[in-house]
Amino acid sequence: MNLMSEFNLIDHPHRRYNPLNGEWILVSPHRAKRPWQGQVEKVVEDVRPKYDPKCYLCPGNERIGGHINPEYTEPFAFVNDFSSLLNDTPEGSWTDGELFKADSEQGICKVICFSPRHDLTIPQMEVDEIKPVIDLWQKEYNELGAIPFINYVQIFENKGSIMGCSNPHPHGQIWASKAIPVEPEKESIRQLAYFEKHGRTLLADYLDAELKKEVRLLASNDHFVALIPFWAVWPFEAMIVSRKQLQSIAQMNDAEKLALADIYKQLTVMYDNLFEVSFAYSAGIHQAPTDGKDHPEWHFHMHFYPPLLRSASVKKFMVGYEMLANPQRDITPELSAQRLRELPKVHYRLI
Ligand SMILES: [Zn+2]
Ligand SMILES: [Zn+2]
Repeated sequence: MNLMSEFNLIDHPHRRYNPLNGEWILVSPHRAKRPWQGQVEKVVEDVRPKYDPKCYLCPGNERIGGHINPEYTEPFAFVNDFSSLLNDTPEGSWTDGELFKADSEQGICKVICFSPRHDLTIPQMEVDEIKPVIDLWQKEYNELGAIPFINYVQIFENKGSIMGCSNPHPHGQIWASKAIPVEPEKESIRQLAYFEKHGRTLLADYLDAELKKEVRLLASNDHFVALIPFWAVWPFEAMIVSRKQLQSIAQMNDAEKLALADIYKQLTVMYDNLFEVSFAYSAGIHQAPTDGKDHPEWHFHMHFYPPLLRSASVKKFMVGYEMLANPQRDITPELSAQRLRELPKVHYRLI
């Protein structure tokens, strides 16, 4: 056989398998070798005030609906004034033959302000200022998860207007629901099958392998590793995985929560430094459902899905083939990881 034509992941189009959700992604590394087209523009960023009298998340301000925020100094959670889920929806289901099916859904949606400061973001906050955010996530997961009808607590953050985030004040959301939503449900099924076969979590074995290979690692500390998954869809998609198997944030001790704050900052500083812009993303935690059962198959992790591709203004679109067939990327996850790893560790605004 001609060695030149032997299949490899650096030169040849290929499909990669995501063992967490059972889906495939198309990788076209030969296309990333084309010269980049278009300018790499810098975006002029507005300087935000520490307090904005018109912001409905700033301390002391009135929200739509008439609630007044307290003069909070620590991370602060409240029930979303425009909740997508309501806790008093009557139970029930509706069918009309085999093809029409609906179930009523109950839940609670909350907003978490990460800081009283309007002008900050996670990568600009100190680790000891992020730690209270993690403490509050844990408290909310425990409290919401203890409600009998809540079976899953989705903690997430939408950062940046291109991710549809309407307010730049640093904040995240929690949607707690009766149903286990689609993405965690897919991962639940795969992780359970793997755990039953091997007696270990899928992500424990995956993380061990990535720590040996080293090519997709971004950052680490005593308790967590940040990496670009082998099957990443978005150009700079990343995952934070706990070194120890933790089913959920409920099992984290103080040192682990501090370490999660640290890796959250390390990763988001890399992101901001990549194009020297406040880097947009959707991020969130995947962890054990709160359905009252033990979940030894679940391994705590966070996903980061950022849309930017090659500058502060050029984003990846999920269109055409990706909507109709499956996702596709050009730059390989290994090259993306290398680019992120080589960046300065200090936030660009502080240099
Ligand atoms: Zn604000
Ligand atoms: Zn996940």
